[in-house]
Amino acid sequence: MAEVKKREGFLPFALPDIGEEEIAEVVDTLRSNWITTGPKTKKFEKEFADYIGVKHAIAVNSCTAGLHLSLEVLNLKPDDEVIVPSFTFCATANVIVHAGAKPIFADIDPVSLCIDPVSVEKLITPNTKAMMIVHYGGRPADMDRLTEIANKHNITIIEDAAHAVYTQYKGKLIGSHGNLTSFSFYATKNIATAEGGMITTNDDELADKLRVLSLHGMSKNAWNRYSATGSWKYDVIEAGFKYNMTDIQASLGLHQLAKLEKMQDRRKHITQLYFNGLKGVKGITLPDMATLNPDDVHACHLFPIRIDKKEFGYSRDEMMELMKEYNIGVSVHFIPVHMHPYYRERYTKDLVLSVTEQVFDQIMSLPLYPTLSDEDALYVIDTIKYLHNKA
Ligand SMILES: *Cc1c(COP(=O)(O)O)cnc(C)c1O
Repeated sequence: MAEVKKREGFLPFALPDIGEEEIAEVVDTLRSNWITTGPKTKKFEKEFADYIGVKHAIAVNSCTAGLHLSLEVLNLKPDDEVIVPSFTFCATANVIVHAGAKPIFADIDPVSLCIDPVSVEKLITPNTKAMMIVHYGGRPADMDRLTEIANKHNITIIEDAAHAVYTQYKGKLIGSHGNLTSFSFYATKNIATAEGGMITTNDDELADKLRVLSLHGMSKNAWNRYSATGSWKYDVIEAGFKYNMTDIQASLGLHQLAKLEKMQDRRKHITQLYFNGLKGVKGITLPDMATLNPDDVHACHLFPIRIDKKEFGYSRDEMMELMKEYNIGVSVHFIPVHMHPYYRERYTKDLVLSVTEQVFDQIMSLPLYPTLSDEDALYVIDTIKYLHNKA
């Protein structure tokens, strides 16, 4: 195999796809003088709800905020337990602590890398109040089995859909399955508003509660109190939070949502290039697509490969360094939450999650975003193959 020539300039791991429409809309918002929660946030909420096919979408300033509020409405007490996969971003577990409950860490399925229903069922106690589901990398979790368990034990499901803005489970978009679901519009996610998030629900009463909690606990429509049509009067009915989305963020979101399909086409295309280019490379396990349901849709948020040092020649840690040397941005999703010092010291002293830990040792995410060129994806593939041959 021919030697790969190191590319000039660093290939970023993730980039947002911001176009002239987004820029013009942000400028319009700035010139309008209404820069915080206002008409554009309300429009974005409406369009997002219509897209998902759900009654309510509540805009917030992050997915983390959305997940926190989803737990706040459960009024959890210190002995209450919430089951969460360890193989996720720390935010999914941090909010359980914020809500005053105990995080209980579940293992993942070795194929889907989503929370393992068998692991969940083993962890259920009389104190279990909720389970968090992460649709890892844009792949839907096993909703049917998890819902069955939740119903059997009278447990609430909260969906972390940070990776799953385009994901479908059995022909229905994530966010429309009847649970409180939080999406992320962080800079690297499939829809980017710099920072931002959205909660979806079909429940009118919960939607009202979430809106109130997201803006200081002030009664309905307080966001409108400085406008000609709004009222100065409000009641504080909860000790709420400052989690509202701004119209600057919503300006980005409106256009990101409009071009989501186009951006997803590129994500799918790059994913296909990686599958074609890397299949058959010894010691590399590609993301599983074979066990998806026929009417599932993968949002292609991440492309995590698993590297087996014995077969491949280099370990994941060595590959992280080598890819950087070849000017390729790579990342690890995720350092398991139960292994972080905060959690070790308080919740998970001797906890072993064998699948999570095994996967963590091997996993590396490749660059994947709409503005990544075919040439760049091919360079990533060639570099991996070249390093394998050299090892
Ligand atoms: C990004 C991410 C979050 C947090 O999203 P923010 O919008 O940054 O708060 C939560 N969970 C997972 C799995 C994520 O990847």
